[in-house]
Amino acid sequence: MTVVVRIAPSPTGKLHVGNVRTSLVNWLFARKAGGKFILRLDDTDTERSTEEFARGIETDLAWLGLTHDFFAKQSDRTAVYDAAAEKLKQMGRLYACYETAEELDRKRKRQQAAHKPPIYDRAALNLTPAEKADLEAKGRRPHWRFKLDGKRVEWNDLVRGPQQIDTASQSDPVLIREDGRYLYTLPSVIDDTDFGVTHIIRGEDHVTNTGTQIELFEALGAKAPAFAHLALLVGAGGEGLSKRTGSLSIEELRNDGIEAMALNSLLAKIGTSDPVVPRATLTDLVADFDMGHMSRAPAHFDPAELRALNHKLLHGTPFEQVQKRLIELGVPGGVAFWEAVRDNIQVLNDAKVWWDVVAGSVAPVIEDQDFAAQARALLPTGPYTEETWHEWSAAVSRKAGVKGKALYKPLRLALTGHDHGPEMRKLLPLIGPERAARRLSGQAA
Ligand code: GLU
Repeated sequence: MTVVVRIAPSPTGKLHVGNVRTSLVNWLFARKAGGKFILRLDDTDTERSTEEFARGIETDLAWLGLTHDFFAKQSDRTAVYDAAAEKLKQMGRLYACYETAEELDRKRKRQQAAHKPPIYDRAALNLTPAEKADLEAKGRRPHWRFKLDGKRVEWNDLVRGPQQIDTASQSDPVLIREDGRYLYTLPSVIDDTDFGVTHIIRGEDHVTNTGTQIELFEALGAKAPAFAHLALLVGAGGEGLSKRTGSLSIEELRNDGIEAMALNSLLAKIGTSDPVVPRATLTDLVADFDMGHMSRAPAHFDPAELRALNHKLLHGTPFEQVQKRLIELGVPGGVAFWEAVRDNIQVLNDAKVWWDVVAGSVAPVIEDQDFAAQARALLPTGPYTEETWHEWSAAVSRKAGVKGKALYKPLRLALTGHDHGPEMRKLLPLIGPERAARRLSGQAA
């Protein structure tokens, strides 16, 4: 059997961390099995779906490297859904209802008052053709509900284990709205069948829909695929995802300078029994992906952990892989520059600060003019190597009679304008003799 999975985002907003985790797990599952990964846009909600969001989703997935083998969008397939809906109507499984939202609300309140579960009472099934015609003549338009079998639906969830849903405890779900638009439920089942989807991997917020969908697969004469429902993503302290955490858009993270592989490395591992480590390529993540490692417990997403991982990833990134992007950032430094600074940046953008230090202009910080003058007088002529710093600072130490922090801190402040940063033995050769001399004499250089 060839594994076929799909992700089905609705283009009604930007991709966020939660959707990306689902996308990544689907992608890794497909690649590990040598299967196919489908991108399907669930754009039946024509009011809220936009082209711009659709393009944004594709851009984000491409940036992450989550390439798809097949693309579809539901708005192209209305005729297929109409045919299936017609079939369900013929079978008596899809029936017209005319209640308004207020009427339904009143019914629910009455049920609650009588301590009954608020399940739709199927009153519409008793409407005669004359009553329906009368309602339609009054301008009422039907919405369409799927008549559930009211049986126990069971499946063996790849993450949650054996599951069962008693559809008798659910209201018949609305599949088609009053304005004729489909909710995602039916189109999803039809597409999953037509595209040969073998595994539906999605968030656990869809568990309750699964009972309905398995009944729909069966009603339409198809075999339901396997299901895996991933645990929720929560914040670092277990709180629900806030604006600051899970609803962070990928676009925002990209603009903040987060590396695609830092995000992939984190999202592939949170909520699993595996350690979170920086991985350079998706191929590395495929190698150790195992659905059996996905936990049922909520996965903790911590933006601070993401930044720390980004830092570690950059530290291990060779120059050739960032050269082009550094140039785009206005940082035309070479390999020696990269190797000097890569341990002192959290995001690539931070390299700019150190590029100014070695090639631009910084305001030197000098507290003791005499000390700076002594140090300047001892500066060797170029060219500088990684030994220069050691030799020069030793000479300054002997002359000025200071060592340790009292020696290194003022030298660093004068040469870089910062009290921390990359190793001075690596920075000094990049700063060079002329710039060093000017800075030690207090000139911005
Ligand atoms: N469009 C649905 C959503 O974004 C898809 C759910 C599913 O994967 O079946 O929630």
